[in-house]
Amino acid sequence: MSVPIEVLPYRRGHLVVKEADPSVLPVCSRPTVPGVISERACAFYGARWMLASIPDVIHLIHGPAGCAYYGRTVRRKSYRIFSTQLVERDIIFGAGDKLYDSIVEAVTRNPNARAVLVYATCVAGVIGEDIPAVCKRATKDTGLPVVPVDCPGFCGSQAEGHDIAAGVLFKHFIGIGKAEQPIDNGVNIVGEFDVQGDLDEIEGLLKQLGLKVICAFSGRASVAAMANAHRARLNIVHCRRTGQALAEGMQKRFGIPYLKVSFFGLEETASALRSIGQFFGVAGAEDIIEPSIQEARKAAAPFLSSLAGKRVALFFGASRMGSMAKAFKELGMEVVMAGSQFGCREDYQEAGAKVPDGAVLIDDAHEKELEEFLVKRQPHLLVGGTKEKYLSHKLGVPFLVFPQEMSPFAGFRGFVNLAREAAGLISAPVWRLARRRGEVDKVKVAVASRNGLTVDQHFGRAEQFMIFEICGENINLLEIRRPSLVSENSCSQPKGKDGLQHRLDLLSDCQGVICVRAGRCVRERAEEAGLMVFESEGPLFQALEQCSLVLQSGEER
Ligand code: SF4
Repeated sequence: MSVPIEVLPYRRGHLVVKEADPSVLPVCSRPTVPGVISERACAFYGARWMLASIPDVIHLIHGPAGCAYYGRTVRRKSYRIFSTQLVERDIIFGAGDKLYDSIVEAVTRNPNARAVLVYATCVAGVIGEDIPAVCKRATKDTGLPVVPVDCPGFCGSQAEGHDIAAGVLFKHFIGIGKAEQPIDNGVNIVGEFDVQGDLDEIEGLLKQLGLKVICAFSGRASVAAMANAHRARLNIVHCRRTGQALAEGMQKRFGIPYLKVSFFGLEETASALRSIGQFFGVAGAEDIIEPSIQEARKAAAPFLSSLAGKRVALFFGASRMGSMAKAFKELGMEVVMAGSQFGCREDYQEAGAKVPDGAVLIDDAHEKELEEFLVKRQPHLLVGGTKEKYLSHKLGVPFLVFPQEMSPFAGFRGFVNLAREAAGLISAPVWRLARRRGEVDKVKVAVASRNGLTVDQHFGRAEQFMIFEICGENINLLEIRRPSLVSENSCSQPKGKDGLQHRLDLLSDCQGVICVRAGRCVRERAEEAGLMVFESEGPLFQALEQCSLVLQSGEER
């Protein structure tokens, strides 16, 4: 199957279309070609991603202010950092003393800090700063572990930064506490960054199994928690790219086994709880799972009608493609793309198994490729990081930021939040007004007409709606839809149960409806659902032309 977008020769193979043959996967884990502005971040940012949330450590960036600023906001959270703020003079004469003074100053300002992490940037790497020597001296003088993080941006992508950070944690922090007995019900969560309360959801579920989280790397990884992490009986890997290396290392050094699971989506969460329960011999896992799934399905149900059959494209850092593809499938959506900035073969294998045939798997996409994909495939929703957000908005495609910004997506309750947020974005009236490139001037309009010549029926009492598609000057009758309920007295009835809601659902794919009259309540509810109401009593085609002019121009009536 050919890839639906054009690619430069060196990018061939990085994009494939999912076929029946599971061995067809994109080329991955390769350096980005120099000069290409891909969506990947640098190794320094990768290390910051892993380590930023460690709370009782001083994070000192040895580099220019720009790198420090870049490394300050991770997962949309602004973490406190320090910077040596290298300038031209430092680059010429070296900045070892400046680094030492900065460490001492930072420690003085943070008397409760338990350690210092000193991050190398491109500039520090290029001028050959001897950061380990300065850290050694500062360790002696401050009495705190001062640890170099050797992650100059040019040494690789975000993925390499993750590996460097994992090495630092493993060498200096994990399991350095007293060699005490394992905690019988103790687990670590590895590759979990506590985005908008995800960790609380996961911890709550594990608590119901009778388990206690010792350390979550690194969403809740204080120095003391990491020192104690070797006492866990199981490591739960939630993100392969950031967690697998740590889990393997702990298995080798401390004999702690690990399980790779996901808490995104109902089935994945249920499967995770079953596997973990089985490991610990907990009998009551099903007692938690079944009622929780039923409750979540019930709570998500009102959002599903606006998601059913809609196309969603995913573009993540790496490992969440597969589990999120499954979660969106559970929401009734069609995944048309699963891509990542630095996914590995296992990530694409997992994603490939969970997306339908015909979906595109794409590795290390750059902005032009994403733009072409969005224009040609016209997904109803793009899910990705903040870098893709503005491209998506400019092309008129609703965008969901992931890692998310509003509420937890993990666990059963997180699934409901995902449904609510996705439905809210897709149904937002603004997208009806935004022109999508590639499908300009195409709108669907319903007309309340019984005789087929004039607009002759009120919205609430219309016996039928004629559905037209208008594309430029072409107006085509697609079908006739007949409501089975009238919407009398709908204002006083609860949403979702009345005839009005039935009519709005019937026209949910239309941008406008033309009728003789519609009440205030109808107008408000229709507007909420993204349906513009036009009142007319004239000839049908004249009303259609006027309506299409408004819808296609995006003007306010
Ligand atoms: S690529 Fe280099 S200069 Fe740019 S942010 Fe990363 S470390 Fe700093």
